[in-house]
Amino acid sequence: MTDFTLKTDADGVAIITWDTVGKSMNVMNQQGFTDLDALVGHALADDAVKGIIITSGKPDSFAGGMDLNIIARMKDSAGDDPARGLFDGVMAMHGVLRRIERAGMDPKTNKGGKPIAAALPGTALGIGLEIPLACHRIFAADNPKAKIGLPEIMVGIFPGAGGTTRLARKLGAMGASPLLLEGKLNDPQAAKRAGVIDEVVPAEDLISAAKAWVLSNPAIVKPWDEKGYKMPGGAPYHPAGFMTFVGASAMVNGKTMGVYPAAKALLSAVYEGALVPFDTALKIEARWFTNVLMNPSSSAMIRSLFINKEALEKGANRPQAPDQKVRQVGVIGAGMMGAGIALVSALAGIKVVLIDAKQDAAEKGKSYTAAYMDKGIARKKATEDKKAAVLGLIHATTDYAALKDCDLIVEAVFEDVGVKAEVTKKVQAVTGAGCIFATNTSTLPITELAKASNDPTNFIGIHFFSPVDKMMLVEIIKGEATGDVAVAKALDFVRQIRKTPIVVNDARFFYANRCIIPYINEGIRMVREGVEPALIENAAKLVGMPLGPLQLVDETSIDLGVKIAKATRAAMGDAYPDGVVDEVLFWMADQTRLGRKSNAGFYAYDDKGKRTGLWDGLAVQYPVADQQPDLVTVQHRLLFAQVLEAVRALEDGVLTDIREGDVGAILGWGFAPWSGGPFSWLDIIGAPYAAERCDQLTAQFGDRFTTPDLLRDMAAKGHEFYKRFGTGAKAA
Ligand code: NAD
Repeated sequence: MTDFTLKTDADGVAIITWDTVGKSMNVMNQQGFTDLDALVGHALADDAVKGIIITSGKPDSFAGGMDLNIIARMKDSAGDDPARGLFDGVMAMHGVLRRIERAGMDPKTNKGGKPIAAALPGTALGIGLEIPLACHRIFAADNPKAKIGLPEIMVGIFPGAGGTTRLARKLGAMGASPLLLEGKLNDPQAAKRAGVIDEVVPAEDLISAAKAWVLSNPAIVKPWDEKGYKMPGGAPYHPAGFMTFVGASAMVNGKTMGVYPAAKALLSAVYEGALVPFDTALKIEARWFTNVLMNPSSSAMIRSLFINKEALEKGANRPQAPDQKVRQVGVIGAGMMGAGIALVSALAGIKVVLIDAKQDAAEKGKSYTAAYMDKGIARKKATEDKKAAVLGLIHATTDYAALKDCDLIVEAVFEDVGVKAEVTKKVQAVTGAGCIFATNTSTLPITELAKASNDPTNFIGIHFFSPVDKMMLVEIIKGEATGDVAVAKALDFVRQIRKTPIVVNDARFFYANRCIIPYINEGIRMVREGVEPALIENAAKLVGMPLGPLQLVDETSIDLGVKIAKATRAAMGDAYPDGVVDEVLFWMADQTRLGRKSNAGFYAYDDKGKRTGLWDGLAVQYPVADQQPDLVTVQHRLLFAQVLEAVRALEDGVLTDIREGDVGAILGWGFAPWSGGPFSWLDIIGAPYAAERCDQLTAQFGDRFTTPDLLRDMAAKGHEFYKRFGTGAKAA
């Protein structure tokens, strides 16, 4: 069986259909390139063929991208010279696409050649757009759900099968930059407006429109293959082009803080490629692409953000249990979290009973969905009908009896054991025996809360992050008695609402909060020591954290920090390690500087709530020391504070799969995505160096940096996390 087939019709149009066997969406693999090349070659050589259409056998999509295992195979193909294997492999892909683009034309005169159209029934991503870009005209079905674009940058690489060079030449550096540098995806109409594709036609006319064009004897030479081609917007040395590249370079460095190799390499490929003829530009693109693929950051990002994220979404850690798809969910507590959970559930087509203590509170929770849909309508992403349908799924009430038919409950009432216990009992007086009860608690032990339940095997934690509609991670927490069906239910629910799950065991702060709190605390600790706050914040950002620790605590609120600190101290007694941090935190709370919500925190804010800079009053209480630490020391303190907690979570058995540790860290709290996550970062720097650095940090700053036994052992044996625990082996 081959993924590509060719049929020539009576009018002499060869239709090459891509239909990856056994997949709902086409994915390019090594054999696919060979087959496509052979069929195009065959059609070009066949005198009966006047032109070619490349399309898809899938009804709603053209292709989802490339099987990234191709890259691993290219690397392996050249033995001890993986860069050579990659470069040669990438150049071979260029060869296939360039043969499509040249379509048999005479290299000197540009004469001859047959028109080749791409006909996209729907989504076309990555290589699924790079192939069409090599064709002479791109037709797309008017399918508003389709996504068209080059999202490679999102997983730490860039479009390396000619997409970078072709799009930059087609649209100019300025026009191509949101598509290349941000991986922006468009629906067909927007893709046409952006100039990425050429025509949008009704789905039923897709092939006939492409065919009419192919038979119209069209001009097919690409502008960049014509004499005198000029890049739209100007080449880099042209005054307009100069401005574009200076701006783009500043933008890329501003956004990435220089830690993402792919963004820089992409810009270099575009810049250098713009100075030379097209075929040389492809070679330059291939060199930069190889450079990026050889960078450990890219491999780590691909592994975490593509391969492992997808594996977790597909249920890598789902226990054996029949399908647990949720039909009706009861959300108890219509506050900030409950309102968001109701929204994402209804968007997934799930019926929701949204309960609060008072009817107006329940209605207010529901109105969050109305406001969300209104925003979508204003942006033309939703319609009034869709809004009515989504709202129609949410029943806002105070009546617990309405929960009778729910098969899942997500409780999101106040963070209080007593309140939660009372709610659990009230709910379970109504729901049936098979109903799974989940709590969205962020700090309370699941095993403890399960005591209020009539069946702890059906009791579980489903921990969302705020804002629910934006944050992609959901942490599923197993209590001591939680059974497999409850885990499967939680995972199937997360899959329905299209988020990424991790499954962890029950322990203080579970996984994400356990790691993020030490990060915030380390930042506050440094303030107390007299480290310049701007140094703390910038060090964090320069190492790829989305928010500095002081900004983060301002966002989550300082009184919440105080509350958590008090509860933790009460639970830990003398072993509580963060007294120094609390001194600063409590002092801030005493000054009623509670963070963004009070328009005053570690940062100062204007009347509109915009941050105006770090608050200078902080220095009065905590003067800045004359001697400041170097940048890397500050960065290491901030990173190791999180990473060591992740290692301890693995040692303790809270995490049972390092893939979840890495994916959860990036999606849950934005842990330096360039690194691939805490375990990937440790693999990049190596366990021996990590252990040595921990010893230094311990000597200088205290026992919280003590090298965990696991890391010490790995350092001694020269182990890597992904070799030792690759696909979810237990820490023990
Ligand atoms: P919130 O105060 O905004 O909402 C709580 C809601 O529960 C209120 O509307 C309240 O009226 C309602 N409620 C209280 N007692 C009730 C009862 N007996 N019956 C029905 N409704 C009742 O709080 P929130 O921020 O949405 O947090 C809810 C839960 O989610 C807490 O357990 C919290 O720890 C957890 N959580 C919060 C966040 C966050 O960032 N805010 C993140 C993850 C988890």
